[in-house]
Amino acid sequence: MNADLERLIELEKVDREASRLTEEVASLPKRVAAIEEKLAEHKAAVEKAKAQIKSNETNRRQLETDIKGFQEKIAKYRSQSSSVKTNDEYRALMHEVEFAEKQISTCEDKILELMVALESEEKALKIADAELKTEATDVEKEKAEARVRTAEDEKLLAGLKAKRAELRSGINDSTLGHYDRVMRQRKSAIAEARDQKCMACFVMVRPQTWQEIRTNEQIVTCNSCGRILYYDPASEPAAPEPAKKKNKARAAEVEPEAETEAAPEATSTQ
Ligand SMILES: [Zn+2]
Repeated sequence: MNADLERLIELEKVDREASRLTEEVASLPKRVAAIEEKLAEHKAAVEKAKAQIKSNETNRRQLETDIKGFQEKIAKYRSQSSSVKTNDEYRALMHEVEFAEKQISTCEDKILELMVALESEEKALKIADAELKTEATDVEKEKAEARVRTAEDEKLLAGLKAKRAELRSGINDSTLGHYDRVMRQRKSAIAEARDQKCMACFVMVRPQTWQEIRTNEQIVTCNSCGRILYYDPASEPAAPEPAKKKNKARAAEVEPEAETEAAPEATSTQ
């Protein structure tokens, strides 16, 4: 094989792997940011659950204060009732007492509702807290993995960079220039030619060019996409099965019939 062609094939492999690694290195901080965002959501859920419990407590305390206020009013009305002059005044006071008692009862109902709600709010906090802890552990693990992966990728990239430089230094300048141009435009610069076609753009090559490609001794480019073409004998389709085999199979089907026909004759002679 042409030495430049061999190096170019290798160079393209190196370039592809390098760009894959570069993309991976770039994507890792994004992945970490995404998982940290998820962690922030869990933190917010815990804060929300805590705020709910706090507001529950505040509401209960307010209701208890309200109850105290109503109880004081009732005490005041009752003490006033002993000094009223008329029945109407007395009835009015008793009406006030009754109203305050109803208010107390409403407050007590609300407190009970809040106590019931508190149970589920505390349960929700417990769940959110546990999820946050799990998530925080996962995030640390993922971050550590991302750090390790980045370091590994960067080490591999350094190795590829050296290999790339070595390969490029051995390739003819104009060929290398062509490779770089096609690589920039098409993200791949080398293509296998099979069945007289460029396997990247699937355009046929001329018979004369095909013969040249098959030798792998020249740098041949695809007229359509510009990629440098090479030939891999391993991709050559297997030769079609000879027609003889088919005839043989047919003969095998016929043979038993011939035997069975012959058999009665054989027995009749005995
Ligand atoms: Zn092509």
